[in-house]
Amino acid sequence: MMNLAAIKKYDLSQWQATAERISQQLETRFFIDGKYVDAIGGDRFATVNPCTGKTLAMMSEGQQADIDYAVSVAGKAFKSGVWSKMAPRDRMDIMYRFAKLVDDNAEELCVLDTLDMGKPISDMVNTDLPSVIETIQFMAEGIDKLEGTVTNTDNDAVHMVLREPLGVVGCISPWNYPLLMETWKIAPALAAGNTVVLKPAEQSPLSAAKLAELFMQAGGPAGVFNVVNGFGETAGRALALHNDVAKLSFTGSTEVGKLILQYAGQSNMKRVGLECGGKSPQIFMSDLPDFDHAIDSAIEGIYCNMGEVCSAGSRLLVQRPIYDEFIQRFIEKGQTTYQAGNPLDPATNMGPLVDYESQQRVLGLIESGRREGATLHFGGDVPAHMADGAYINPTLFGDVNNNMTIARQEIFGPVASVIPFDTAAEAIAIANDTIYGLAAGIWTSDINRAFRLVKEIEAGVVWVNNYEDGDMTQPFGGYKQSGHARDKCMESLKSYTQNKSAWIRLTTP
Ligand code: NAD
Repeated sequence: MMNLAAIKKYDLSQWQATAERISQQLETRFFIDGKYVDAIGGDRFATVNPCTGKTLAMMSEGQQADIDYAVSVAGKAFKSGVWSKMAPRDRMDIMYRFAKLVDDNAEELCVLDTLDMGKPISDMVNTDLPSVIETIQFMAEGIDKLEGTVTNTDNDAVHMVLREPLGVVGCISPWNYPLLMETWKIAPALAAGNTVVLKPAEQSPLSAAKLAELFMQAGGPAGVFNVVNGFGETAGRALALHNDVAKLSFTGSTEVGKLILQYAGQSNMKRVGLECGGKSPQIFMSDLPDFDHAIDSAIEGIYCNMGEVCSAGSRLLVQRPIYDEFIQRFIEKGQTTYQAGNPLDPATNMGPLVDYESQQRVLGLIESGRREGATLHFGGDVPAHMADGAYINPTLFGDVNNNMTIARQEIFGPVASVIPFDTAAEAIAIANDTIYGLAAGIWTSDINRAFRLVKEIEAGVVWVNNYEDGDMTQPFGGYKQSGHARDKCMESLKSYTQNKSAWIRLTTP
């Protein structure tokens, strides 16, 4: 058991030894009512390492009956008040201990996600796990800062607006940042006093139950945090259709987000929080303040996490006077900065895509770029030295126009598309010409232009002269078909509560 500080110094051989050891003792069961349990029907599915193609484990596969069981346990735990009515500072203590235990178990948690979905171990150690810990701590801090109000009513009444938890929260998460996306849901849901049933993505099922176990070790009562693995169309659908689930918090594709809304309407009108896809533009005006920083940010914004990032800056809009220089500088750095390698090697910054199906889908989209007339400057292929894994080399297309498939569809792979433009008005029109609206970047030295673009861009997050900076206070979420939930900030915590208005008529004393 090693914490984050200790594993920062690990080399490849240490990580290989850890992976070897942990692979021998993988937990394949669900975590329900404070215990590890198998699927009621005994079903199992394989989780595969996308770096090697080898099956890591046969996981318990949840069906309707497993979801029903987990929701009934979570419902009873909620109604008992053991968590929902716990004194705020006692709940805070448990959440802080939970964050500390995640840190203490960092070695195991990091290696589980790396084996399962191919993410470089250095990203787990330096980004994902620190953010998981910070999210739990931030939401813990918020617990006794959640306040109701007393409104200014007439003299013969007192009107209080109380803030209460919702009940059972169903969480359905994606595979691109397994532990982190799960934590963006379960941490505010738990902090607000709800109980939880989490259904992780079927591509990355290994780590979630450990999170629930650590919550219990921290003092969290049994039945408050439950995990059921399984597929979306079965376990996920059953959770989203469940009549005893008060809110469904979903992160994933826009296509499935629309189904989740339907399921809510077909069942109990549960609240729905959606974090969905993106096709985020970055606008590079010719007066950008720091060309080197802009190029570095453009490269990182599309190639980090293998491009499997909802807010990836996948459309690079470049003003014509700097277009040639931008392409030339991007080629010089972008071809070499991210190199496919063994994800367990701390020197690796690019692993495989999540699975071979994704690899084929991304190769198909690259082919569409070629066919529709974009200029392929580099990449577009599979790295020869990593042929066993689901890898794709970093790829750059130039001369893209916004009607091409590669500019319209979310690729979710390391593929950058550069689109030339002349005026700021044209850039705004291109940037907004998409069904998505998750994030955007603006690069300019002109403060008036920066503010004007911030106002005109239809996106939930806009970065000026940086990309992907921020902290826990920053609301993260989309406009349009990127969804409407907001993660991270205090608004996230509030979104797992409901208001109760109490109007108290006063009589003469
Ligand atoms: P996905 O929509 O295929 O799956 C996401 C989750 O939904 C998985 O747990 C899956 O099992 C479940 N699911 C699938 N079908 C379902 C159904 N019919 N009913 C209930 N649940 C179902 O998405 P993915 O491929 O896992 O993740 C990639 C997508 O997630 C991308 O579009 C990406 O942009 C998006 N994403 C968004 C954010 C954000 O914060 N906006 C963050 C990460 C990923």
